[in-house]
Amino acid sequence: MFEKILIANRGEIALRVQRACRELGIKTVAVHSVADKEAKYVKLADESVCIGPAPSNLSYLNIPAVISAAEVTDAQAIHPGYGFLSENADFAERVEQSGFVFIGPRAETIRLMGDKVSAKDAMKKAGVPCVPGSEGALPDDPIEIIKTAKKVGYPVIIKAAGGGGGRGMRVVHTEAALVNAVNMTKAEAQAAFGNPMVYMEKFLENPRHIEIQILADQHGNAVYLGDRDCSMQRRHQKIIEEAPSPLLSPRIRDKIGERCAEACRKIKYRGAGTFEFLYENGEFYFIEMNTRLQVEHTVTEMITGIDLVQQQIFVAAGEKLAFRQRDIELRGHAIECRINAEDPYSFVPSPGKLTTFHMPGGPGVRIDTHAYAGYVVPPNYDSMIGKLITYGATREQAIARMRIALSEMLVDGIKTNIPLHADLMADAAFHLGGTSIHYLEQKLGISHK
Ligand code: ADP
Repeated sequence: MFEKILIANRGEIALRVQRACRELGIKTVAVHSVADKEAKYVKLADESVCIGPAPSNLSYLNIPAVISAAEVTDAQAIHPGYGFLSENADFAERVEQSGFVFIGPRAETIRLMGDKVSAKDAMKKAGVPCVPGSEGALPDDPIEIIKTAKKVGYPVIIKAAGGGGGRGMRVVHTEAALVNAVNMTKAEAQAAFGNPMVYMEKFLENPRHIEIQILADQHGNAVYLGDRDCSMQRRHQKIIEEAPSPLLSPRIRDKIGERCAEACRKIKYRGAGTFEFLYENGEFYFIEMNTRLQVEHTVTEMITGIDLVQQQIFVAAGEKLAFRQRDIELRGHAIECRINAEDPYSFVPSPGKLTTFHMPGGPGVRIDTHAYAGYVVPPNYDSMIGKLITYGATREQAIARMRIALSEMLVDGIKTNIPLHADLMADAAFHLGGTSIHYLEQKLGISHK
Protein backbone atom coordinates (compact mmCIF):
# COMPACT_ATOMS: atom_id res chain seq x y z
CA MET A 1 0.00 0.00 0.00
CA PHE A 2 1.07 3.59 -0.60
CA GLU A 3 2.68 5.51 2.23
CA LYS A 4 2.00 8.98 0.86
CA ILE A 5 -0.54 10.36 -1.62
CA LEU A 6 -0.61 13.80 -3.18
CA ILE A 7 -4.10 15.27 -3.64
CA ALA A 8 -4.21 17.38 -6.80
CA ASN A 9 -7.39 19.28 -6.01
CA ARG A 10 -8.98 21.77 -3.63
CA GLY A 11 -12.09 22.33 -1.52
CA GLU A 12 -14.42 19.67 -0.22
CA ILE A 13 -13.07 16.90 -2.43
CA ALA A 14 -9.47 17.54 -1.30
CA LEU A 15 -10.70 17.09 2.27
CA ARG A 16 -12.75 14.01 1.35
CA VAL A 17 -9.72 12.29 -0.21
CA GLN A 18 -7.56 13.34 2.73
CA ARG A 19 -9.98 11.70 5.16
CA ALA A 20 -9.96 8.45 3.18
CA CYS A 21 -6.14 8.42 3.26
CA ARG A 22 -5.89 9.19 6.96
CA GLU A 23 -8.24 6.35 7.79
CA LEU A 24 -5.94 4.00 5.88
CA GLY A 25 -2.84 5.38 7.62
CA ILE A 26 -1.57 7.01 4.42
CA LYS A 27 0.18 10.37 4.68
CA THR A 28 -1.17 13.21 2.55
CA VAL A 29 0.26 16.11 0.59
CA ALA A 30 -2.06 19.03 -0.14
CA VAL A 31 -1.25 21.27 -3.07
CA HIS A 32 -2.85 24.68 -3.10
CA SER A 33 -2.98 28.02 -4.82
CA VAL A 34 -2.20 31.29 -3.08
CA ALA A 35 -5.97 31.82 -2.68
CA ASP A 36 -6.33 28.59 -0.66
CA LYS A 37 -3.24 29.06 1.51
CA GLU A 38 -5.22 29.54 4.74
CA ALA A 39 -7.74 26.75 4.16
CA LYS A 40 -8.03 24.41 7.13
CA TYR A 41 -7.81 21.24 5.09
CA VAL A 42 -4.44 22.42 3.77
CA LYS A 43 -3.22 22.73 7.37
CA LEU A 44 -4.66 19.30 8.25
CA ALA A 45 -2.59 17.58 5.56
CA ASP A 46 0.78 16.13 6.59
CA GLU A 47 2.51 18.39 4.09
CA SER A 48 1.46 21.16 1.77
CA VAL A 49 2.96 22.79 -1.29
CA CYS A 50 1.91 26.06 -2.89
CA ILE A 51 1.73 25.43 -6.64
CA GLY A 52 0.88 28.87 -7.96
CA PRO A 53 -1.33 31.94 -7.92
CA ALA A 54 -5.13 31.93 -7.65
CA PRO A 55 -6.14 31.43 -11.32
CA SER A 56 -6.50 27.67 -11.78
CA ASN A 57 -4.63 27.58 -15.09
CA LEU A 58 -1.56 28.74 -13.15
CA SER A 59 -2.04 26.40 -10.18
CA TYR A 60 -4.53 23.50 -10.10
CA LEU A 61 -4.16 22.97 -13.86
CA ASN A 62 -0.39 23.46 -13.87
CA ILE A 63 0.88 19.94 -14.63
CA PRO A 64 4.64 20.54 -14.10
CA ALA A 65 3.93 22.27 -10.77
CA VAL A 66 1.79 19.37 -9.51
CA ILE A 67 4.37 16.79 -10.57
CA SER A 68 7.27 18.66 -8.98
CA ALA A 69 5.25 18.89 -5.76
CA ALA A 70 4.99 15.09 -5.81
CA GLU A 71 8.73 14.85 -6.45
CA VAL A 72 9.82 17.15 -3.63
CA THR A 73 7.50 15.45 -1.12
CA ASP A 74 8.25 11.86 -2.19
CA ALA A 75 4.59 11.04 -2.73
CA GLN A 76 3.97 7.72 -4.47
CA ALA A 77 0.58 8.32 -6.00
CA ILE A 78 -1.60 11.24 -7.10
CA HIS A 79 -5.37 11.46 -6.57
CA PRO A 80 -6.89 14.01 -8.98
CA GLY A 81 -10.36 14.39 -7.35
CA TYR A 82 -12.95 15.65 -9.85
CA GLY A 83 -12.74 18.59 -12.26
CA PHE A 84 -9.31 20.21 -12.85
CA LEU A 85 -6.87 17.53 -14.13
CA SER A 86 -9.00 14.49 -13.27
CA GLU A 87 -9.95 13.69 -16.86
CA ASN A 88 -6.83 15.00 -18.54
CA ALA A 89 -5.19 12.05 -20.31
CA ASP A 90 -1.91 13.94 -20.80
CA PHE A 91 -1.71 14.53 -17.07
CA ALA A 92 -2.35 10.86 -16.27
CA GLU A 93 0.35 9.91 -18.74
CA ARG A 94 2.90 12.35 -17.37
CA VAL A 95 2.19 11.27 -13.79
CA GLU A 96 2.98 7.67 -14.68
CA GLN A 97 5.97 8.60 -16.85
CA SER A 98 7.39 10.49 -13.88
CA GLY A 99 7.20 7.32 -11.80
CA PHE A 100 4.03 8.00 -9.79
CA VAL A 101 0.77 6.06 -9.73
CA PHE A 102 -2.23 7.90 -11.13
CA ILE A 103 -5.30 7.05 -9.04
CA GLY A 104 -7.68 6.61 -11.93
CA PRO A 105 -7.95 4.76 -15.24
CA ARG A 106 -5.14 4.34 -17.77
CA ALA A 107 -4.41 7.42 -19.90
CA GLU A 108 -5.65 5.67 -23.05
CA THR A 109 -9.03 4.97 -21.40
CA ILE A 110 -9.35 8.61 -20.35
CA ARG A 111 -8.52 9.65 -23.90
CA LEU A 112 -11.06 7.25 -25.40
CA MET A 113 -13.86 8.43 -23.08
CA GLY A 114 -12.83 12.10 -23.18
CA ASP A 115 -13.84 12.27 -26.80
CA LYS A 116 -17.58 11.73 -26.72
CA VAL A 117 -17.66 10.50 -30.31
CA SER A 118 -15.09 7.75 -29.69
CA ALA A 119 -16.70 6.98 -26.31
CA LYS A 120 -20.11 6.41 -27.91
CA ASP A 121 -18.56 4.28 -30.57
CA ALA A 122 -16.73 2.12 -28.03
CA MET A 123 -19.88 1.75 -25.94
CA LYS A 124 -21.99 0.76 -28.91
CA LYS A 125 -19.46 -1.94 -29.68
CA ALA A 126 -19.53 -3.09 -26.05
CA GLY A 127 -23.31 -3.52 -26.19
CA VAL A 128 -24.34 -0.37 -24.27
CA PRO A 129 -27.47 1.34 -25.70
CA CYS A 130 -26.82 4.90 -27.02
CA VAL A 131 -28.95 7.93 -28.05
CA PRO A 132 -29.77 7.67 -31.77
CA GLY A 133 -27.86 10.23 -33.83
CA SER A 134 -25.12 10.80 -36.35
CA GLU A 135 -22.63 8.01 -37.05
CA GLY A 136 -19.63 9.67 -35.44
CA ALA A 137 -18.71 13.31 -36.02
CA LEU A 138 -20.75 15.52 -38.38
CA PRO A 139 -19.18 16.21 -41.77
CA ASP A 140 -18.73 19.76 -43.13
CA ASP A 141 -21.14 19.26 -46.04
CA PRO A 142 -24.44 21.06 -45.19
CA ILE A 143 -26.44 18.66 -47.37
CA GLU A 144 -25.13 15.68 -45.40
CA ILE A 145 -25.92 17.44 -42.11
CA ILE A 146 -29.50 18.12 -43.21
CA LYS A 147 -29.89 14.50 -44.34
CA THR A 148 -28.64 13.20 -41.00
CA ALA A 149 -31.08 15.42 -39.06
CA LYS A 150 -33.98 14.23 -41.19
CA LYS A 151 -33.08 10.65 -40.41
CA VAL A 152 -32.67 11.29 -36.67
CA GLY A 153 -35.83 13.42 -36.49
CA TYR A 154 -36.27 16.91 -34.93
CA PRO A 155 -35.61 18.22 -32.38
CA VAL A 156 -31.91 17.33 -32.43
CA ILE A 157 -29.07 18.40 -30.19
CA ILE A 158 -25.64 19.33 -31.53
CA LYS A 159 -22.92 18.41 -29.05
CA ALA A 160 -19.18 19.03 -28.94
CA ALA A 161 -17.06 15.85 -28.99
CA GLY A 162 -14.72 17.47 -26.47
CA GLY A 163 -17.46 19.11 -24.40
CA GLY A 164 -17.98 18.89 -20.66
CA GLY A 165 -19.54 20.61 -17.67
CA GLY A 166 -22.81 21.08 -19.52
CA ARG A 167 -21.21 23.35 -22.15
CA GLY A 168 -20.97 22.97 -25.91
CA MET A 169 -24.55 21.90 -26.67
CA ARG A 170 -27.28 23.41 -28.82
CA VAL A 171 -30.84 22.22 -29.43
CA VAL A 172 -32.25 22.62 -32.95
CA HIS A 173 -35.96 22.38 -33.76
CA THR A 174 -36.11 23.16 -37.47
CA GLU A 175 -34.15 22.53 -40.63
CA ALA A 176 -33.92 26.29 -41.24
CA ALA A 177 -31.86 26.74 -38.06
CA LEU A 178 -29.71 23.63 -38.45
CA VAL A 179 -26.62 24.51 -40.44
CA ASN A 180 -26.09 27.81 -38.67
CA ALA A 181 -26.43 26.06 -35.28
CA VAL A 182 -23.87 23.43 -36.27
CA ASN A 183 -21.41 26.11 -37.35
CA MET A 184 -21.90 28.10 -34.16
CA THR A 185 -21.42 25.04 -31.96
CA LYS A 186 -18.28 24.13 -33.92
CA ALA A 187 -16.81 27.60 -33.43
CA GLU A 188 -17.65 27.54 -29.71
CA ALA A 189 -16.23 24.05 -29.32
CA GLN A 190 -12.99 25.11 -30.97
CA ALA A 191 -12.71 28.14 -28.67
CA ALA A 192 -13.68 26.33 -25.45
CA PHE A 193 -12.22 22.84 -25.91
CA GLY A 194 -9.68 23.26 -28.73
CA ASN A 195 -11.60 20.69 -30.79
CA PRO A 196 -14.19 21.76 -33.36
CA MET A 197 -15.65 18.27 -33.80
CA VAL A 198 -19.40 18.06 -33.14
CA TYR A 199 -21.97 15.27 -33.42
CA MET A 200 -25.75 15.04 -33.48
CA GLU A 201 -28.19 13.28 -31.19
CA LYS A 202 -31.93 13.04 -31.01
CA PHE A 203 -33.00 15.60 -28.39
CA LEU A 204 -34.99 13.64 -25.83
CA GLU A 205 -37.93 15.74 -24.64
CA ASN A 206 -38.59 14.30 -21.20
CA PRO A 207 -35.74 12.08 -20.06
CA ARG A 208 -34.38 11.51 -16.61
CA HIS A 209 -30.65 11.47 -15.95
CA ILE A 210 -29.73 8.11 -14.45
CA GLU A 211 -26.16 6.95 -14.01
CA ILE A 212 -24.45 3.72 -13.01
CA GLN A 213 -21.43 3.67 -10.69
CA ILE A 214 -18.87 1.03 -11.50
CA LEU A 215 -15.65 -0.15 -9.95
CA ALA A 216 -13.04 -2.29 -11.72
CA ASP A 217 -9.68 -3.69 -10.62
CA GLN A 218 -6.57 -4.50 -12.65
CA HIS A 219 -7.33 -8.22 -12.61
CA GLY A 220 -10.37 -8.24 -14.88
CA ASN A 221 -13.04 -7.88 -12.16
CA ALA A 222 -15.77 -5.25 -12.47
CA VAL A 223 -18.91 -4.60 -10.42
CA TYR A 224 -21.67 -1.99 -10.49
CA LEU A 225 -22.67 -0.19 -7.31
CA GLY A 226 -26.25 0.65 -8.22
CA ASP A 227 -27.57 3.80 -9.82
CA ARG A 228 -28.11 7.48 -9.08
CA ASP A 229 -30.80 9.84 -10.32
CA CYS A 230 -29.41 13.30 -11.11
CA SER A 231 -32.35 14.76 -13.00
CA MET A 232 -32.64 17.92 -10.90
CA GLN A 233 -30.44 20.16 -13.05
CA ARG A 234 -30.15 23.66 -14.34
CA ARG A 235 -28.06 24.55 -17.36
CA HIS A 236 -27.24 20.83 -17.63
CA GLN A 237 -25.62 20.95 -14.18
CA LYS A 238 -26.79 18.73 -11.35
CA ILE A 239 -27.92 20.23 -8.06
CA ILE A 240 -29.66 17.31 -6.32
CA GLU A 241 -28.74 13.64 -6.66
CA GLU A 242 -30.23 10.56 -5.08
CA ALA A 243 -29.67 6.82 -4.89
CA PRO A 244 -31.35 4.63 -5.84
CA SER A 245 -33.37 6.29 -8.62
CA PRO A 246 -37.00 6.46 -7.59
CA LEU A 247 -39.46 4.27 -9.54
CA LEU A 248 -36.75 2.15 -11.18
CA SER A 249 -37.26 -1.58 -10.71
CA PRO A 250 -34.38 -3.72 -9.41
CA ARG A 251 -34.65 -5.89 -12.53
CA ILE A 252 -34.09 -2.93 -14.90
CA ARG A 253 -31.29 -1.59 -12.67
CA ASP A 254 -29.50 -4.93 -12.66
CA LYS A 255 -29.81 -5.34 -16.40
CA ILE A 256 -28.22 -1.98 -17.24
CA GLY A 257 -25.70 -2.33 -14.39
CA GLU A 258 -24.49 -5.67 -15.71
CA ARG A 259 -24.11 -4.20 -19.22
CA CYS A 260 -21.89 -1.46 -17.80
CA ALA A 261 -19.78 -3.88 -15.76
CA GLU A 262 -19.36 -6.04 -18.86
CA ALA A 263 -18.30 -3.00 -20.92
CA CYS A 264 -15.65 -2.27 -18.28
CA ARG A 265 -14.27 -5.79 -18.56
CA LYS A 266 -14.16 -5.41 -22.35
CA ILE A 267 -12.26 -2.12 -22.35
CA LYS A 268 -10.08 -3.20 -19.38
CA TYR A 269 -11.29 -0.29 -17.31
CA ARG A 270 -9.41 0.42 -14.09
CA GLY A 271 -10.79 2.23 -11.01
CA ALA A 272 -14.09 3.98 -10.32
CA GLY A 273 -16.21 5.32 -13.16
CA THR A 274 -19.70 6.38 -14.09
CA PHE A 275 -21.84 5.59 -17.09
CA GLU A 276 -24.29 8.43 -17.65
CA PHE A 277 -27.62 7.70 -19.33
CA LEU A 278 -30.74 9.51 -20.30
CA TYR A 279 -33.74 7.35 -19.41
CA GLU A 280 -37.03 7.79 -21.25
CA ASN A 281 -40.03 5.48 -21.72
CA GLY A 282 -38.27 2.59 -20.04
CA GLU A 283 -35.16 2.80 -22.26
CA PHE A 284 -31.59 3.77 -21.36
CA TYR A 285 -29.49 5.88 -23.73
CA PHE A 286 -25.76 6.26 -22.98
CA ILE A 287 -24.51 9.86 -23.19
CA GLU A 288 -21.04 9.75 -21.69
CA MET A 289 -18.68 8.08 -19.27
CA ASN A 290 -16.90 9.92 -16.48
CA THR A 291 -13.54 8.35 -15.76
CA ARG A 292 -13.18 9.72 -12.25
CA LEU A 293 -14.83 10.10 -8.87
CA GLN A 294 -18.00 12.17 -9.09
CA VAL A 295 -19.36 14.89 -6.82
CA GLU A 296 -22.37 12.68 -6.07
CA HIS A 297 -20.37 9.53 -5.17
CA THR A 298 -21.54 10.11 -1.59
CA VAL A 299 -25.11 8.88 -2.13
CA THR A 300 -23.76 5.58 -3.46
CA GLU A 301 -21.50 5.28 -0.43
CA MET A 302 -24.49 5.79 1.87
CA ILE A 303 -26.58 3.00 0.35
CA THR A 304 -23.77 0.48 -0.26
CA GLY A 305 -21.59 1.12 2.79
CA ILE A 306 -18.56 1.13 0.46
CA ASP A 307 -15.98 3.93 0.63
CA LEU A 308 -15.40 4.73 -3.05
CA VAL A 309 -12.27 6.80 -2.50
CA GLN A 310 -10.60 4.00 -0.56
CA GLN A 311 -11.61 1.55 -3.28
CA GLN A 312 -9.95 3.79 -5.86
CA ILE A 313 -6.78 3.69 -3.78
CA PHE A 314 -6.88 -0.11 -3.38
CA VAL A 315 -7.36 -0.62 -7.12
CA ALA A 316 -4.54 1.81 -7.96
CA ALA A 317 -2.26 -0.10 -5.59
CA GLY A 318 -2.97 -3.24 -7.63
CA GLU A 319 -5.26 -5.00 -5.14
CA LYS A 320 -8.15 -7.23 -6.21
CA LEU A 321 -11.68 -6.09 -5.46
CA ALA A 322 -12.61 -7.54 -2.07
CA PHE A 323 -16.24 -8.19 -3.09
CA ARG A 324 -18.23 -9.64 -5.93
CA GLN A 325 -21.47 -8.44 -7.45
CA ARG A 326 -23.58 -10.66 -5.19
CA ASP A 327 -21.98 -9.12 -2.09
CA ILE A 328 -23.22 -5.65 -3.00
CA GLU A 329 -26.47 -4.78 -1.34
CA LEU A 330 -28.36 -1.51 -1.77
CA ARG A 331 -29.95 -0.47 1.52
CA GLY A 332 -32.18 2.52 2.17
CA HIS A 333 -32.13 5.82 0.29
CA ALA A 334 -29.74 8.77 0.15
CA ILE A 335 -30.13 12.33 -1.18
CA GLU A 336 -27.46 14.95 -1.77
CA CYS A 337 -28.01 18.70 -2.07
CA ARG A 338 -25.11 20.65 -3.53
CA ILE A 339 -24.70 23.79 -1.43
CA ASN A 340 -23.50 26.58 -3.69
CA ALA A 341 -22.35 30.10 -2.88
CA GLU A 342 -24.81 31.76 -5.22
CA ASP A 343 -28.13 33.56 -5.40
CA PRO A 344 -30.77 30.80 -5.06
CA TYR A 345 -32.83 31.98 -8.02
CA SER A 346 -30.61 34.06 -10.31
CA PHE A 347 -27.64 31.69 -9.71
CA VAL A 348 -25.20 34.61 -9.70
CA PRO A 349 -22.09 33.50 -7.71
CA SER A 350 -21.75 34.99 -4.24
CA PRO A 351 -18.16 34.64 -2.99
CA GLY A 352 -17.02 36.24 0.29
CA LYS A 353 -16.59 35.64 4.00
CA LEU A 354 -18.84 33.22 5.88
CA THR A 355 -19.74 35.11 9.04
CA THR A 356 -21.96 32.29 10.34
CA PHE A 357 -21.61 28.67 9.31
CA HIS A 358 -23.74 26.37 11.42
CA MET A 359 -23.96 22.75 10.34
CA PRO A 360 -26.98 20.52 10.89
CA GLY A 361 -26.68 17.06 12.45
CA GLY A 362 -28.61 14.12 13.80
CA PRO A 363 -29.27 10.61 12.51
CA GLY A 364 -28.61 10.04 8.84
CA VAL A 365 -26.98 13.42 8.17
CA ARG A 366 -23.59 13.68 6.41
CA ILE A 367 -21.82 16.87 5.46
CA ASP A 368 -18.84 17.03 3.15
CA THR A 369 -17.46 20.54 3.26
CA HIS A 370 -14.18 22.36 3.70
CA ALA A 371 -15.96 25.54 4.85
CA TYR A 372 -16.28 26.96 8.38
CA ALA A 373 -17.25 30.24 10.04
CA GLY A 374 -14.68 32.83 9.01
CA TYR A 375 -13.77 30.98 5.80
CA VAL A 376 -13.58 33.19 2.75
CA VAL A 377 -15.06 31.64 -0.42
CA PRO A 378 -12.62 32.71 -3.15
CA PRO A 379 -14.13 34.10 -6.36
CA ASN A 380 -11.77 32.07 -8.54
CA TYR A 381 -13.32 28.62 -8.46
CA ASP A 382 -16.53 26.63 -8.65
CA SER A 383 -19.25 27.99 -6.36
CA MET A 384 -19.92 24.71 -4.53
CA ILE A 385 -19.00 25.08 -0.85
CA GLY A 386 -20.20 21.73 0.35
CA LYS A 387 -22.63 18.86 0.07
CA LEU A 388 -25.40 18.00 2.46
CA ILE A 389 -26.36 14.34 2.34
CA THR A 390 -29.15 12.58 4.20
CA TYR A 391 -29.83 8.90 4.51
CA GLY A 392 -33.05 7.15 5.47
CA ALA A 393 -34.54 3.67 5.47
CA THR A 394 -36.95 4.98 2.83
CA ARG A 395 -36.97 7.88 0.37
CA GLU A 396 -39.59 9.63 2.49
CA GLN A 397 -37.34 9.45 5.53
CA ALA A 398 -34.33 10.76 3.58
CA ILE A 399 -36.45 13.70 2.32
CA ALA A 400 -37.80 14.43 5.81
CA ARG A 401 -34.27 14.44 7.22
CA MET A 402 -33.09 16.70 4.39
CA ARG A 403 -35.91 19.14 5.11
CA ILE A 404 -34.93 19.33 8.77
CA ALA A 405 -31.20 19.53 8.02
CA LEU A 406 -31.72 22.40 5.57
CA SER A 407 -33.80 24.27 8.15
CA GLU A 408 -31.03 23.87 10.74
CA MET A 409 -28.22 24.94 8.43
CA LEU A 410 -27.23 28.57 8.84
CA VAL A 411 -24.90 30.38 6.49
CA ASP A 412 -24.48 34.16 6.70
CA GLY A 413 -22.21 36.60 4.93
CA ILE A 414 -22.85 35.21 1.46
CA LYS A 415 -25.90 33.97 -0.44
CA THR A 416 -26.46 30.24 -0.86
CA ASN A 417 -28.94 28.05 -2.70
CA ILE A 418 -30.29 26.58 0.58
CA PRO A 419 -33.72 28.29 0.04
CA LEU A 420 -34.02 26.64 -3.40
CA HIS A 421 -33.25 23.22 -1.91
CA ALA A 422 -35.83 23.83 0.82
CA ASP A 423 -38.43 24.66 -1.87
CA LEU A 424 -37.58 21.50 -3.79
CA MET A 425 -37.84 19.28 -0.72
CA ALA A 426 -41.44 20.55 -0.38
CA ASP A 427 -42.21 20.17 -4.09
CA ALA A 428 -45.06 17.75 -4.90
CA ALA A 429 -43.55 16.47 -8.16
CA PHE A 430 -40.19 15.84 -6.51
CA HIS A 431 -41.98 13.87 -3.78
CA LEU A 432 -43.62 11.65 -6.37
CA GLY A 433 -40.17 11.01 -7.91
CA GLY A 434 -39.19 10.56 -11.52
CA THR A 435 -39.14 14.22 -12.64
CA SER A 436 -37.33 14.89 -15.93
CA ILE A 437 -34.10 16.85 -16.49
CA HIS A 438 -36.17 19.86 -17.59
CA TYR A 439 -38.33 19.97 -14.48
CA LEU A 440 -36.30 22.48 -12.46
CA GLU A 441 -35.93 25.01 -15.27
CA GLN A 442 -39.64 24.70 -16.10
CA LYS A 443 -40.52 25.23 -12.44
CA LEU A 444 -38.27 28.29 -12.30
CA GLY A 445 -39.67 29.59 -15.56
CA ILE A 446 -36.36 29.33 -17.41
CA SER A 447 -36.51 28.14 -21.00
CA HIS A 448 -33.97 25.44 -21.75
CA LYS A 449 -34.42 25.69 -25.49
P1 ADP B 1 -21.46 17.15 -20.13
O1 ADP B 1 -20.25 16.32 -20.37
O2 ADP B 1 -21.26 18.56 -20.53
O3 ADP B 1 -22.02 16.96 -18.76
P2 ADP B 1 -23.52 15.33 -21.22
O4 ADP B 1 -23.42 14.67 -22.55
O5 ADP B 1 -23.30 14.47 -20.02
O6 ADP B 1 -22.56 16.62 -21.20
O7 ADP B 1 -24.94 16.02 -21.09
C1 ADP B 1 -25.25 16.83 -19.97
C2 ADP B 1 -26.73 17.07 -19.88
O8 ADP B 1 -27.23 17.64 -21.13
C3 ADP B 1 -27.58 15.82 -19.67
O9 ADP B 1 -27.66 15.44 -18.31
C4 ADP B 1 -28.90 16.32 -20.22
O10 ADP B 1 -29.50 17.21 -19.29
C5 ADP B 1 -28.53 17.16 -21.44
N1 ADP B 1 -28.49 16.34 -22.69
C6 ADP B 1 -27.39 15.80 -23.27
N2 ADP B 1 -27.73 15.07 -24.38
C7 ADP B 1 -29.07 15.18 -24.52
C8 ADP B 1 -30.03 14.64 -25.45
N3 ADP B 1 -29.68 13.86 -26.48
N4 ADP B 1 -31.35 14.95 -25.25
C9 ADP B 1 -31.73 15.73 -24.22
N5 ADP B 1 -30.87 16.26 -23.31
C10 ADP B 1 -29.57 16.00 -23.43
